[in-house]
Order: sequence, then structure tokens, then C-alpha cells
Amino acid sequence: EFDVLVVGGGPAGAAAAVYAARKGIRTGVVAERFGGQVLDTMAIENYISVLETEGPKFGVALEQHVKAYEVDIMNLQRASRLVPGKSVQVELASGAVLKAKTVILSTGARWRQINVPGEDEYRNRGVAYCPHCDGPLFKGKRVAVIGGGNSGVEAAIDLAGIVGHVTLIEFGDALRADDVLQRKLRSLANVTVITSAQTTEIHGDGKRVIGLSYTDRTSGAAQRVELDGVFIQIGLVPNTEWLKGTVELSKHGEIVVDARGQTSVPGVFAAGDATTVPYKQIIIAAGEGAKAALAAFDHLIRSSVE
Ligand code: FAD
Repeated sequence: EFDVLVVGGGPAGAAAAVYAARKGIRTGVVAERFGGQVLDTMAIENYISVLETEGPKFGVALEQHVKAYEVDIMNLQRASRLVPGKSVQVELASGAVLKAKTVILSTGARWRQINVPGEDEYRNRGVAYCPHCDGPLFKGKRVAVIGGGNSGVEAAIDLAGIVGHVTLIEFGDALRADDVLQRKLRSLANVTVITSAQTTEIHGDGKRVIGLSYTDRTSGAAQRVELDGVFIQIGLVPNTEWLKGTVELSKHGEIVVDARGQTSVPGVFAAGDATTVPYKQIIIAAGEGAKAALAAFDHLIRSSVE
């Protein structure tokens, strides 16, 4: 039985594992893909004290840091069920069952894709999902934001301060963002808003994005916009489907946690992009992972006296 079993091997899970292991307690990490989203990232320029690095390099560094401690890493294993109890059970897709006194859920999230030609091909070569991360790479250039909900409009406002011009593309006939955000957006001189537009393709020159095509859903006409980048902002989906009905989730599927990372299930903590904690960033996920491990340790020392 583990004292702390971490489910998920991204920045949140790696930080949790290091913090738990440093308490000298029995720690395990089960991860479908150790490293998490950073493996799909190119430049990382906002992890404090690391001026610049690349995602895969950062992923290897996470693993090396965890491996410097006595942590049982079970990579390429997917958790499929959580069974609460004095000893919490985590069932794996392989059929194996792991037992732990405390569990830290850090299964992260994935960006919803629009699934058009060019999206995968030009990912990290003009196709981006995170304005806080990649916005500065498009300084002075022309970009599009796809999605007119709160995250799309926030992204467009944010980018308008950095890039040359932003075209916001919304599928529906109106933006869905809060009024105050829409007003702010419309006050900006370098933003064009296009509604009733279905993106059909992201174009590139073989190296980088050069434009996108959409169908005007009112007239049926095909249109093309020339640009250097496309930010896709149609939703971030937490990897929590397997927890439905066991752990309290928000209406967006995020694990509801308190200030210590405690979930609705005793002894089960959570951290990172999979939770209700706002702003999905590496440094935040890592900090939350550390916090959840300390909270799990606190829980262990309090429950061991019974
Ligand atoms: P994740 O990194 O998503 O890790 C989740 C882990 O859980 C993975 O190991 C996964 O395999 C595992 N997992 C999922 N489901 C299961 C399951 N059922 N069983 C077992 N394991 C499971 N942030 C920045 O701060 N700076 C950037 O420059 C930056 N750029 C980005 C660029 C891109 C293209 C993307 C996609 C994201 C970027 N981000 C960036 C966001 C950042 O990557 C995330 O905020 C961060 O990785 C979240 O960490 P996490 O540990 O919560 O989750």
C-alpha cells in the first residue's frame, strides 16, 4: 500500500511526487504519459528561473527530478476507476488495482480541437492554444482567435495588446462572452470580429501558418484571411471522465478542491489543470501539486494516531 499515490505525471503530479517522497513516505506515480502536456509544447518561457526551454526537455527534467527520489513510477498506465475507502483503491485499465492511504489526482486537461485540415500539421508552427504561453511569439503579427466565448474574447483582448491585428472568429451568430468583455473587445482598434463563420482549413506554406479559410454561414461563401497564427479557444476539457460519480466535479468537469487541494472524498487530493483552480499554467500546476502533497502528508500524520 502506498502512503501517497499520484495519478498523473505532468508538472502537478511530478511536483506532488517530489514533495511526498521528500517526507520519506511510500510514494507512487501512475501516468498514462509521463510529462503530460509539456511534451506537446515547443518553447516554454514563463517558468520562473528558467529563461527559456523546450517542452520535451522540460518533460525529461520533470522525470529526472522525480527519479532522484525513491518513487515507484508506473508509466503508460491509465487509471480507470477510483474506489473511496480507508484505503483508497485506484483501478488501472490493465486490470491491476493499486491501494493507497492518500491519492493525489493530477490528470490534467486537453484543449478541444476544431478538427480541420492544417490544425495538427501546424500545431506549434502557428497553431496555438494558450495565449499566456504563445502570445509573445506573435509580436506585431496578424493572428486569429477561434471561439467567441469568454476564453476566446479574453484571448483576443490579451493578444490585441501584443500582436499587430486580431481576427476573432465565432461559429454562432453572436459572441457568447460576458457583456463587459465584448464591450472591451469592440473598443480595440486592431480587432475584427467575424460571426457566423465556420473555419474549414488552416493553411500553411509547409513550414508555418499563412492563413485560414472559413465559410460564411449566412451567405455560404468561402472566405480566406491571411495571417501568421491561429489561437484555438473552444474549450479546455479536464481528464476527469473516469471520476464522474465518485469525486465532486464542477459543471465543466473540473475536480472541486479547497485551498489545500482536498476533494470531496477524504484522503483524496487534486492539483493542476484537472481542478477548479483558475489559470492553467505549468508554474501554477507545479505549485498546486506541491501543496496537495503537503496536505496529503498532513492528513497522514493526523490519521495515523487512531
Ligand atoms: P498535464 O500536463 O495535462 O498532465 C496530466 C498527466 O496525467 C499526464 O501524465 C497524463 O498522461 C496523465 N493522465 C491523464 N489521464 C490519466 C489517467 N486516467 N490515468 C493516468 N494518467 C492520466 N503552460 C505554461 O505555463 N507555459 C507554456 O508555455 C505552456 N505552453 C503550452 C503549450 C501547449 C501546446 C499546451 C497544450 C499547453 C501549454 N501550457 C503551458 C499549459 C501547461 O502545459 C499545463 O498547464 C500543465 O501541463 C498542466 O499540468 P498538469 O500536471 O496539471 O497536467
